[in-house]
Amino acid sequence: MVTPEPVEFRGTPVVPGLAHGPVLKVRDELDPEAVGRLEALAGLDPADALTAYDAAAAAVSQGYADRAATAAGAAAEVLTASAGLARDPGLRSAMESRINSGKPLPEAVSGAVAHFVTLFTQMGGLMAERATDLRDIERRLLARLADAPEPGVPTPAVPSVLVADDLAPADAAGLDAALVLALVTARGGATSHTAIIARQLGIPCVVGAVGVLDLTDGARVLVDGAVGALWVEPDPAEADRRVAADLEARAALAGWLGPGRTADGAPVKLLANVADADSAGAAATDPVEGVGLFRTELCFLGRADEPSVEEQTDVYAGVLGAFGQGRHVVVRTLDAGSDKPIAFATKTGEENPALGVRGLRLAHDNPGLLERQLDAIAAAAARTGTDTWVMAPMVATIAEAEVFATQVRARGLKAGVMIEVPSAALLAHQLLEVVDFCSIGTNDLTQYTMAADRMAADLVHLTDPWQPAVLQLVAIAAEAGRRSGKPVGVCGEAAADPLLACALAGMGITSLSMAAAAVRAVGSQLGAVTMAACEEAAEAALGARDPAAARAAVRGVLGPAD
Ligand code: PEP
Ligand code: MG
Repeated sequence: MVTPEPVEFRGTPVVPGLAHGPVLKVRDELDPEAVGRLEALAGLDPADALTAYDAAAAAVSQGYADRAATAAGAAAEVLTASAGLARDPGLRSAMESRINSGKPLPEAVSGAVAHFVTLFTQMGGLMAERATDLRDIERRLLARLADAPEPGVPTPAVPSVLVADDLAPADAAGLDAALVLALVTARGGATSHTAIIARQLGIPCVVGAVGVLDLTDGARVLVDGAVGALWVEPDPAEADRRVAADLEARAALAGWLGPGRTADGAPVKLLANVADADSAGAAATDPVEGVGLFRTELCFLGRADEPSVEEQTDVYAGVLGAFGQGRHVVVRTLDAGSDKPIAFATKTGEENPALGVRGLRLAHDNPGLLERQLDAIAAAAARTGTDTWVMAPMVATIAEAEVFATQVRARGLKAGVMIEVPSAALLAHQLLEVVDFCSIGTNDLTQYTMAADRMAADLVHLTDPWQPAVLQLVAIAAEAGRRSGKPVGVCGEAAADPLLACALAGMGITSLSMAAAAVRAVGSQLGAVTMAACEEAAEAALGARDPAAARAAVRGVLGPAD
């Protein structure tokens, strides 16, 4: 395949797919008259200023709630969360103290929002991503105060590539997939709300493409959501040809029905990553042999208090029930902390939460939390009859694995651990002596191997699972699995990369778990190559000096994936 030169912008790939069309930029500025009206509010006395703020906050919150009512799935959740944040008492009291100390109303709004943006950004991870939501709330509050329409995405007159600084959730949720060919943002990580919603809508998406705002409206661009690249003014005929070939290739994938096998019939289980009963129900209709990662903490992101065992049982049964008939579900116990703050579990005030008390480590000070969750998982397994495996996140020592396995087996379930910390990869052979299976979380394994925050847009060259050091650790764990005869899977994003998936299989990885949308592309690539070729690809990747060389070496062995 010929790649148009030069590559103009690079970002983080989020949703694969090619698109070619004119740029339409999202602008958020108020017009000059509205700015004048806003400035006039500076003269209000504190009581009137607070009344005006309350009215604006209520209107903004209602606007989000109205959009939530017409949206579905992740989009509705994001909008509901923003509706709550707009009315947050903490934000209001930060406003009030600024107004009372004599700050003009617009300045007080911006100051209070900036205070929380800083706070969330310092917390890192998912909380940092909420900074975008706060900035959107600020823009909407100021527009309401200025008696101007709330900002939003212009409706494209022709199908366009939407380019924004960091699309607000309310805007992303309202996108019309027929008019938005692709989505490119200058900021945001792979787990930003823009990314979550783009995945749901299936719109090709690249985030963190620094400098992309310099593009002018109407410039024609080719976006490749699979590699995270954008070319400006490419040869139109060549760009259209690539888009058509991509559509054809994606249509052909629809015919892949599973199960995961190499061309010579070696089985590699393809499994789905799910977050709740809805995503499990949808994944159950895809050609997967079960669930390789049920992220239970995502069921409770908005919860202030710990759900009862009965309530948890219902939630877990909703997922397990979707996968009866010979398929299994791997339930991961709460991975609270760091980028996944759960109000009732996360330890607060840590200096460095990613290296703090997260995942299984929470059970040390709060053993009941894990016991109750295991009781609920066991009850859900009994209720549904589903083959249920349970694994713990963030395991670093054999002792942790041993204690956990005892607790899980006492409830008649299969026990495993995640390999997300380099110590666990290095000790995989001993871990497999005390557990029934392992699952490699390449997202965290990469973060901890490379000492690079997985959410940092400027460290994506390090947070790349193709990094040779990460591949070496995966190979150590896979080899331990081969020797023990116990399953060792991969459930991080690396499993969704068709070329890497083949190299992982060649290392001895027995299952690959990924977003259900990625399963057909991985399954069809696996089905096109033999296990011997996968083994050769693994060797080639492990011998490379950097991610680009590893990709090129694997492509050289397996042939182009596209
Ligand atoms: C991982 O770390 O690779 C993983 C699967 O867990 P999460 O992405 O939920 O941290
Ligand atoms: Mg992880």
